[in-house]
Amino acid sequence: MIQIPRTKLEQVNLEATLELVLKNAVKALKGSAGVVAMWSEAEQRFVVGASYGLDSKALAQIQPLLDEAIPDLSMSKESYNLLSELSPGTTLPFSNQGTRQDPIVTLPLQIADKSVGLIYVLRPFKAKAFSKKNRDMLAAFAEQAAIAVQNARLAHLLAAEKHRVELILETSAEGIVSINGQRRITGFNMAMERLTGKSREGVLGKECFRVLNLRNRQGQSLCNTQCPILMNSEQSSQTFELEGTIQTIEGNDVDVAMTYSVVYSLEGKPINAVINVRDISKLREVENLRETFLSMLGHELQTPLSIIKGYASTLAQRNGNWGSEILRDSLQVIEAESDRLGRIVNKLLLAARISTDTSVLAKEEVQLSSLVEKVVSRLQTMTDIHKFEIDCEPDLPPILADPALMEEVLTNLIDNAIKYSPKGGKINITGESSVGKIKVTVADEGIGILGEDMERIFERFQRTDRSEVKKVKGIGLGLYICKSIIEAHGGRIEVASKLGKGSQFTFTLPLEQST
Ligand code: ADP
Repeated sequence: MIQIPRTKLEQVNLEATLELVLKNAVKALKGSAGVVAMWSEAEQRFVVGASYGLDSKALAQIQPLLDEAIPDLSMSKESYNLLSELSPGTTLPFSNQGTRQDPIVTLPLQIADKSVGLIYVLRPFKAKAFSKKNRDMLAAFAEQAAIAVQNARLAHLLAAEKHRVELILETSAEGIVSINGQRRITGFNMAMERLTGKSREGVLGKECFRVLNLRNRQGQSLCNTQCPILMNSEQSSQTFELEGTIQTIEGNDVDVAMTYSVVYSLEGKPINAVINVRDISKLREVENLRETFLSMLGHELQTPLSIIKGYASTLAQRNGNWGSEILRDSLQVIEAESDRLGRIVNKLLLAARISTDTSVLAKEEVQLSSLVEKVVSRLQTMTDIHKFEIDCEPDLPPILADPALMEEVLTNLIDNAIKYSPKGGKINITGESSVGKIKVTVADEGIGILGEDMERIFERFQRTDRSEVKKVKGIGLGLYICKSIIEAHGGRIEVASKLGKGSQFTFTLPLEQST
């Protein structure tokens, strides 16, 4: 919780201290009343800071007199015997007993040669004027009052600074945890609450290793072996970095980088630490993606390249005397493998283009039923074990879309239907329209998809980990491309499947009015 600055409290303390100083001053100087006036920067005048022996009526009379007390006078270290010397002709205040006040002594409250207020001690009207000794005595009280003001100001500054630092820590986008020398949590900011789902109230005072339990990739706890607060140091403060995984309240792992700033006692014992916690899950995801990408590239590009190289170097042998049939077959293999390489490269380029820029859509009116027929007639030449059925509503309205990208979507979905139905079967493509949208489904009778895999197959380089899938060549980009294209057109794509029975991929697109 953010602490409310202690300004008010300091103010109350200051008033009480000034009243006490004033009371003692009045008694010591045998006065009957006294006032401490403070210079208010905001109001640019003196205001009553504390009073003694004056009722509210008398105090009300004081303010106009203070208004006449010129700030310049407060700069002087001199004292004044009579208020009338400060402001001649003014009405003088009365003490609580109704006695008119006249002989007055005043001194400035000085902080580093700067006057911040005035202290007045008053005697009843016509009473003896204050002596030089009295004034000297008041100087000691003025000093005490000045010190009280100074302390209050410092306390105020400290509280304001503390509040500022707490606010920065609290609202920092990075997680910040502070712990004491016993590794108990003393601070847990909002970003930490968001990151872990754990409430500050629930974790304050608890041992940090129980709340965060930082583990390495192998699942071993780093808290009891590597926590910097367990190690002494010869320096007064030091920073350390640790990377690992912490768990959210729901039990999910989050990859984090922790920077510990540790403060040590003179003996080198850790006193406390502030830990910056950075969520690096996204960074890790990118690293993992890069690794997957590189291993996929290694595999999928290496295979066709080795085949092309193998055939080409065999054909190029000087003493090779190849018959025309062998020559043709070999060149066909080289051509097919080059096509495969070309397709992979195109997919990579398309995926990169879509993920960086989805705005460049060359939209025009597209008749999806004709596009389906075009793609099916191209792909059905690749197989003779699949039976294609196109079932599009006859009056399917045209959509406004990028035709090349729509063809890419249909090609990927129908190609997958073929690839993942190794035993053949029916591939059914339906197109229908309903209010404001058009729906296309590609259904096969193939291997199907496990429930837990259905979400992630639309992500980049995600292939499922099944032997039936591994037998089929692929780089895990087709569905990612489909999803990106459909979403760039304002549509949605989803999958339904029964393991071993087949899958249905359905995308819907809004029916926009062409202009
Ligand atoms: P690729 O086919 O190159 O692996 P995709 O992104 O097109 O990449 O598909 C991702 C994964 O989704 C495939 O590896 C496969 O496991 C699964 N998948 C896609 N389409 C089908 C389908 N029609 N039937 C079964 N599984 C499929």
